[in-house]
Amino acid sequence: MKKILVTGGAGFVGSHLCERLLKEKNDVICLDNFFTGDKKNIIHLLNNPYFELVRHDVTMPFFAEVDEIYNLACPASPIHYQYNGIKTVKTSVMGAINMLGLAKRIKAKILQASTSEVYGDPKIHPQTEDYWGHVNPIGVRSCYDEGKRCAETLFMNYHNQNNVDIKIIRIFNTYGPNMHPNDGRVVSNFIIQALKNKDITIYGDGTQTRSFQYVDDLVEGMTRMMNTNNFIGPVNIGNPNEFTILELAKIIIELTGSKSKTIFLPATADDPTQRKPDISLAKKELNNWEPKIQLREGLTKTIEYFDNLIKEGSC
Ligand code: NAD
Ligand code: UDP
Repeated sequence: MKKILVTGGAGFVGSHLCERLLKEKNDVICLDNFFTGDKKNIIHLLNNPYFELVRHDVTMPFFAEVDEIYNLACPASPIHYQYNGIKTVKTSVMGAINMLGLAKRIKAKILQASTSEVYGDPKIHPQTEDYWGHVNPIGVRSCYDEGKRCAETLFMNYHNQNNVDIKIIRIFNTYGPNMHPNDGRVVSNFIIQALKNKDITIYGDGTQTRSFQYVDDLVEGMTRMMNTNNFIGPVNIGNPNEFTILELAKIIIELTGSKSKTIFLPATADDPTQRKPDISLAKKELNNWEPKIQLREGLTKTIEYFDNLIKEGSC
């Protein structure tokens, strides 16, 4: 039985990861400060004797004897990470330093949940891991983008200088149950708006693209990455099927049978115009990993989740 620390474990992705690791008979410590995470996401795991929940902020040192660390702690939606940009930088940078220091001391393997945002508003398409990115270092997204880029730098330096066993994955837009209903991300916003027959808010002209990955595919990719030998990444983990935001709105209206209309609002600053991962490296290094759940199937499961939240009055 492996002992595994998941920072940000009460968040959207972290809660799915904790569940998966417990199913595989690991001993899991979930660390979270509950900034965007929610106890509801992990409440069903609390009775499991191999699950421990620790309220802690990764900007402060933490000590535990574990074999592996998944470092996910960081708000991920633009509304949440821009709420307190300084704190977002501290979480990415000081969190990485604290977790890498721990990994070095206890000789644990450590995986960083990095992001497609390290490519910024990309000038090459689809994005490959050797692309250095196009990021505005002083824009509204920079607290997140540059924080995550600095975290990657720290991971590489701890590896090169101190031989820490690191893994870096760059996650592309991921959705599914346990997303925060108020996180302002496009999938949760559109589903809730559609289910309530409210206007679907398109920022800009809706021609910007994203490639949406269902959370189970991400968790599969993450765990495969942790189990690789002699491969540190960075590696893209995402679904390469690309949609415009307008197409996404139409699919969600259709799947929910909604009466909602689309309305156009001003574009947000520095909004990437296109995003799609090249996943050849992931396929090669992660035992033919590729996403299995395509958009309509994943959206149907996610719509059911939000429908239940609405029915119980939670959003
Ligand atoms: P989320 O906001 O649901 O989860 C983040 C978790 O980290 C929350 O539980 C939050 O309370 C916790 N947290 C935040 N700051 C913390 C701190 N200082 N100390 C301890 N805990 C803290 O977001 P998510 O979508 O689950 O994202 C998880 C990770 O994956 C993040 O690192 C994010 O950057 C990365 N990622 C996610 C996506 C995506 O589309 N979901 C895309 C790229 C990268
Ligand atoms: N978006 C939108 N309406 C919304 C929320 C988001 O048109 O209600 C757009 C947003 O401008 C961006 C895309 O959807 O172009 C994805 O936004 P999200 O916040 O989900 O993720 P990110 O921008 O970080 O990829």
